[in-house]
This record gives sequence, C-alpha cells and structure tokens, in this order.
Amino acid sequence: MNTPFHKQEPDFFIQGILNGDVASLSRAITLVESQNEDHQALAQQILERLLPRTGRSFRLGITGVPGVGKSTFIESFGKVVMDKGHKLAVLAVDPSSAKSKGSILGDKTRMEALSTQKGVYIRPSPSSGVLGGVTRGSFETILLCEAAGYDFIIVETVGVGQSELAVSKITDFFLLLMLSGAGDELQGIKRGIMEMADALMITKADGSNLNKAKTARAEYAHAMHLLQEPESGWPAYTEVCSSVTGLGISEMYERLMNYKQFVNANGYFLKKRTEQQYDLFVNAFEEQLKQSFYAMPGIQEKMAAIKDQSFAGPIQPFTLAKKLLADFLKNRPV
Ligand code: GDP
Repeated sequence: MNTPFHKQEPDFFIQGILNGDVASLSRAITLVESQNEDHQALAQQILERLLPRTGRSFRLGITGVPGVGKSTFIESFGKVVMDKGHKLAVLAVDPSSAKSKGSILGDKTRMEALSTQKGVYIRPSPSSGVLGGVTRGSFETILLCEAAGYDFIIVETVGVGQSELAVSKITDFFLLLMLSGAGDELQGIKRGIMEMADALMITKADGSNLNKAKTARAEYAHAMHLLQEPESGWPAYTEVCSSVTGLGISEMYERLMNYKQFVNANGYFLKKRTEQQYDLFVNAFEEQLKQSFYAMPGIQEKMAAIKDQSFAGPIQPFTLAKKLLADFLKNRPV
C-alpha cells in the first residue's frame, strides 16, 4: 500500500518542490495549513531546510471588496507578469469555500485563463474568517512557492478590516483596488487602510465609467497626499485601470519594478523582509509554546476542572490564568 503523503519523510517533499513538482508543492502547503500537530512538525522541517532557497521573489498583496475586480485584474496583470518571463504563483481567495466548503465550480471560474498557463500556480484559500483569505500559513506558503521557483507571488485577500494588515505584513507591496462612485463607507475603507497602501487603483475605468473613475482617482490622490509619508519613502500613487481594455495594467508592472529598485537602494526592502522574518519566528515560537503547554501532563484535566467549577462563583480569570502559568513555568505536574 502507498504511504499517505503526510507520513512521508521531509525529503519526499523537498526534492519534489525543488524539482518544480506542483503536486509536492500543493501537499506541502496542505501540511502548512493543517492544524494537526504532526503535520505542523513535518511542515516546519520542510520549511527549515528550504529556507535558503526562499526570498527571491517579488511579493504583491492585492485587496479590495468582493466585486471590485480582483480576480479579473490578476488575470490581465498576470499575463503581463508572465510575458516578462516570471513564474507566477497566486494565493487566491476562494469565495465559494465560506458557503459550500469549496465548490469545484467556484474554484474553476476564477482566473480560468491564467490557471491554464504553464508556469502559473494558483492556490485558493478560504475567504471566511477575519483575515479574508490570509490564512495562518500564508507566509509559509509564500516561502514554499519561492523554493519551487516562483519569482512573482500575488496574495489576494478580501478587504475585511484586519486582512489589510495581515497581507501587508507578508508582502513587499500592498495594492488596494477601489470602485468609483461606491463611497468609502460601502467599501469599508478606513484611513488606516489607505495609509498601508503603496498604491490605490480605481478599477473598471472603461466605457461610460472612465470619467467617473478619473474623478474618483483625483479625489483619492488628494486624500492620499494628505497622509503621512510612508516609511518606505516611496510616495503611494493613485491610478485608474481597466482589466478589459488593459489601461494601466502593464504600467503597474513597471511601477512595481521601479518601487523594487527604489526600496532596494534605500534599504527599506531588506528592513521589511527582516521584520517579516522576525514575525515568523515569533509566530513559530508562540505556536510551539502553546503546544507544549497543552501537552503538559494533567493540563487538559486542570482546564476542564477550571471550566466546571471556578466560574460558578465570583469569576477571577486573571488570577486563575496567572496561577496556571506559574505552574507551567515551574514545570510542576498540575
Ligand atoms: P472580485 O470579486 O474582486 O474578484 O471581482 P471580479 O474580478 O470577479 O469582477 C467582478 C465583476 O466585475 C465581474 O463581472 C467582472 O467581469 C467585472 N469586471 C472586472 N474588471 C473589470 C473591468 O476592468 N472593466 C469592466 N467593465 N468590468 C470589470
């Protein structure tokens, strides 16, 4: 009988990924996204060994409300990226998964043309939850894609408040897509989100919508201008685009390459990447800390006892938490 993939040795995945085998990459991503402790442990071994092969891509985060035109934009922008000779990986929102746990139809209809191109890897991730498609393993997924040779990575999210911060934490450049005439309120755009954006593009600037889009661009450009200068030192820009006519699409690629040159020269690129690496360490550490805590002998019983008894009387959650932690630190059997 064949060994199931999650019982394989790290080498099984590593060799496959380094050879550009898409199935190995997908399986490793499944491990990274898994909540299972054994899967996590295996994923960490794989990542640790692949780390020297990571870091050589440009990571673009794209966000915007459903219907703004994200997947259509990625289709047409993705073609430009491919024409420039890149291998492209898209970590895409899967809108169907929230309702139906991933209908095949939902996955297929988004970015259909792009998904059939050689050298393109599309990985749908669920859009449900607070992070709008940025899963807890998204950063690790980027690293795996890089090790597999993808040198341009797009991370798509649905703008739902915290997702913007999450995506800007794992990418090099954060693009906010906006509709004209929909109003900031409707699009959930808050000042903080605009401050995070490296570029803001008004979508669907074609046909009778072109002039409206241009007016919206001028308004947003003004609003962006009033914000603090970004830490990168590169002024965020506001443009119009159309995935139908191609307006502003290849210019976007040129701008990104200019940005990359600029932040490479002033050291911001490296600084941001280093911070992201540190965040990865903190996440990994916290995850391991939590796991060792819950794996301590007797801890499950202790937690159950606290739940059953302690909260009947006056609630003292802070004292209880402090005591439990003290027990853990002393490594006493509880
Ligand atoms: P998403 O939910 O943000 O991924 O949005 P989609 O890419 O699925 O686009 C939502 C709708 O807008 C679809 O019906 C698209 O055909 C349409 N759309 C997307 N981009 C454009 C564009 O540039 N121009 C026009 N006219 N329609 C567009």
